Amino acid sequence: MPMLHRRQSVRDAMEDDVFASRDLSEAIPKYRFPQDEHVAEHVFQLVHDELMLDGNSRQNLATFCQTWVEPEVNELLRLSVDKNMIDKDEYPQTAELEARCVHMLADLWNSPDAADTMGTSTTGSSEAAMLGGMALLWKWRARRRAEGKSTDRPNLVTGPVQICWHKFTRYWDVEHREIPMEGDRLLMDPDEVLKRVDENTIGVVPTLGVTFTCQYEPVADVAAALDQLQDETGLDVPMHVDGASGGFIAPFVEPDRVWDFRLPRVKSINASGHKFGLAPLGVGWVVWRDADDLPDDLVFHVNYLGGDMAVFALNFSRPGGQVVAQYYNFLRLGREGYRKIHEASYATARYLADEITAMGPFEMIYDGRGGIPGLAWKITPGADPGFNLFDLADRLRTRGWQVPAYTLPPHREDLAIQRILVRHDVSRDMASLLLDDFRRSLDVLGKHAPKASFTAEEGTGFHH
Ligand SMILES: *Cc1c(COP(=O)(O)O)cnc(C)c1O
Repeated sequence: MPMLHRRQSVRDAMEDDVFASRDLSEAIPKYRFPQDEHVAEHVFQLVHDELMLDGNSRQNLATFCQTWVEPEVNELLRLSVDKNMIDKDEYPQTAELEARCVHMLADLWNSPDAADTMGTSTTGSSEAAMLGGMALLWKWRARRRAEGKSTDRPNLVTGPVQICWHKFTRYWDVEHREIPMEGDRLLMDPDEVLKRVDENTIGVVPTLGVTFTCQYEPVADVAAALDQLQDETGLDVPMHVDGASGGFIAPFVEPDRVWDFRLPRVKSINASGHKFGLAPLGVGWVVWRDADDLPDDLVFHVNYLGGDMAVFALNFSRPGGQVVAQYYNFLRLGREGYRKIHEASYATARYLADEITAMGPFEMIYDGRGGIPGLAWKITPGADPGFNLFDLADRLRTRGWQVPAYTLPPHREDLAIQRILVRHDVSRDMASLLLDDFRRSLDVLGKHAPKASFTAEEGTGFHH
């Protein structure tokens, strides 16, 4: 009887131990679209085991992104798994939480009129940077047209930037005037900015927490230089601050550091909620100083609940849970909570910097002061320990730690450095475990020096 047979085999399948099941006792085809259905529990186990090979994200000291959330955040994400952030009519309360976050950030970043500012959540700082850059480009074009001048050759001035600004300039056909590193200057400075700005400059973008070194670029000094330029020449060049990391750190830890809307020249700011904003992956923010700084023809207006919601985004549908979780964080932590968390991270970064300096022929190029919580070092110039930083990164990897070694961008490709980001969940105790493995790694490298050995200056010939 086919019916009975079928029931029997389904029952067998349900009773089998998951690894003894037919689904898991043979390799599942990986690149053809599957023909048959499979039992949910079996497939869950299979996918779960694939994820295992990613390693342990908490030992990934390369990432700026959040790798630990409170259980309440998981629960809020679960409650929001069906919420589409773009459906502001259907989910007006999620949209309301987003709007509150924008105003809270405008307040945090000292907007002159936080209640009336413009801003939006995004999928991350990359999308936020695109939107900030587009606003600069549109405003510049409007100014030029009003003056009857050409809009053919826009340019953007940045320091050594994250890839999102390379994308922005390429996608929107803007000349990128990126200030290269030079000697010990690994950041933009006012003189280098002034050398590059002209009437076609749509804006200057300093970074608060440069990707390569974790340092803050001197936003206030650059703004002052541009103020003086305007006094002397009339040229008025706006600024956007890439605060991907620092936008969620400086306001809590160094409230007196002036980098934000307290500088009238700063027209917009982006930050990644999923970095030091401590939200789960998939949320960024961009806020404009005032409504005037966001050209109206970039904005689509949605009216819900009698209000006027400005929609400016590259995506349409995207998850709402990350924004809900961000709102939870703001209420849960407040300025006080963020300050305590980040101060603990700075203390751990400085501890690691001291210990690592004492341990080998290493010289810190960033020790957790004047930037985001982290550290970056090079091999002491002139020292030849018989291994390079790429060898050390490989050794640490055998214990699961990801401590990236890489060469710097133009013109310091000759310099190889290694970097650690200290996030929320990198505790002092975890740092001490890392240091134990650091010592063991140096021991092994000392005894069995890799064949090809490079000094710091030569380190770049050797790409892993
Ligand atoms: C991470 C980062 C970005 C990109 O942000 P995402 O949120 O990953 O899209 C841009 N700029 C800087 C300085 C960053 O650190």
